[in-house]
Amino acid sequence: MKAIVIGGGIGGLCAAIALRRFGIETEVYEAVKEIKPVGAAISIWPNGVKCLNYLGMKEQVRQLGGPMHYMAYNECLKGQTLTRFSLDPLVESVGERPYPVARAELQDMLLETYGRDKVQFGKRVSGVEETAAGVTAWFEDGSQAHGDFLVAADGTHSVIRPYVLGQQVERRYAGYVNWNGLVTIDESIAPANQWTTFVGEGKRVSLMPVCGNRFYFFFDVPLEKGLPEDRSTVRNDLQRYFAGWAAPVQKLIAAIDPATTNRIEIHDIEPFEQLVRGRVALLGDAGHSTTPDIGQGGCAAMEDAVVLAIALQTNSLGIADALQRYQEKRSYRVKDLVLKARKRCDVTHGKEMAVTHDWYEELKSETGERILTGMRETILGGPLA
Ligand SMILES: Cc1cc2nc3c(=O)[nH]c(=O)nc-3n(C[C@H](O)[C@H](O)[C@H](O)COP(=O)(O)OP(=O)(O)OC[C@H]3O[C@@H](n4cnc5c(N)ncnc54)[C@H](O)[C@@H]3O)c2cc1C
Repeated sequence: MKAIVIGGGIGGLCAAIALRRFGIETEVYEAVKEIKPVGAAISIWPNGVKCLNYLGMKEQVRQLGGPMHYMAYNECLKGQTLTRFSLDPLVESVGERPYPVARAELQDMLLETYGRDKVQFGKRVSGVEETAAGVTAWFEDGSQAHGDFLVAADGTHSVIRPYVLGQQVERRYAGYVNWNGLVTIDESIAPANQWTTFVGEGKRVSLMPVCGNRFYFFFDVPLEKGLPEDRSTVRNDLQRYFAGWAAPVQKLIAAIDPATTNRIEIHDIEPFEQLVRGRVALLGDAGHSTTPDIGQGGCAAMEDAVVLAIALQTNSLGIADALQRYQEKRSYRVKDLVLKARKRCDVTHGKEMAVTHDWYEELKSETGERILTGMRETILGGPLA
């Protein structure tokens, strides 16, 4: 059995590694010559870490992950702690740690595990065609590839999604801009073993440790779409949006490297239930694009990969049947994650400021219990709970 995997990002590479583990031949086709991930880092929550463990990368991911043992929310102007608690109860109850990791290092780990030389770079798919015997993918350079089935892991702008759904879907602007990057850890900004978030005015500034004594930082500001801002204006923009915020925030803005700071207008896509058509399966952002507000988009792609491979391994009524079972197992889960993230996004970013203020008030009495309960539920909804 042979799979054609389109896209060499988190989803495509995890799928290729997972399918290969069950003896399925794989070919991975990636549009760009060199992958430059859109963000600086991501947090891999225990549901995602378990998938990477399952795929044989237990030690590697542990080495890339930062020591995130506590979580804290601080008030924006004076920087006072609203709540601070240990993540240990969460780790103990779900059986794994969360690991914030630099994206480039995650991408390298996946490429090394699959085999960098086995990925065909510079191959941009333009269309797919199915016959009773298999699937053909067409590339912009005029070449084609054939397989028994095709995994479309070509991201949020997927060109294969319309083939599966029979229609185009639009991305929805979530109403805020995110700046992110990596910076050397400075404990006068935040503790090195903590996920620290400053909140106020519907904005947030967050820091998570990744390996190599670095913080993954991000700034979120509710803004209109399409402003003429880029890396050349980033420091001034952040100073303006965060004027009056506490000293650690000002220090962080002074410390960032504008040349490597990303600015992203955050989008998601209204969830849809169909992930499969015949021998073609959508996976990762191609099948479910979420805002990053619960840090689950990449984790969900890892989950998809594991569930897809298990469906093909454990069912014997044919490929189309196994792909349908993959869809049945994933549809509700990914819809739930997208909608949870959207809800969190709206509260965090002041969609209704009264609700956001209530949340700031709630944080003052938060012991960790409510937040960790929500996280636990999300994590335990994964396939390897
Ligand atoms: C600011 C931000 C923060 C985030 N934080 C987190 C987090 O903390 N935790 C988390 O789990 N997730 C997070 N995410 C989400 C996560 O980045 C995505 O869910 C994840 O990258 C999806 O992986 P993917 O492989 O499906 O898509 P992608 O990473 O987009 O990869 C798709 C690949 O397909 C290739 N491709 C595209 N079109 C074609 C084509 N026509 N032919 C061939 N190849 C093609 C692309 O070049 C790309 O390499 C965050 C996202 C953002 C924007």
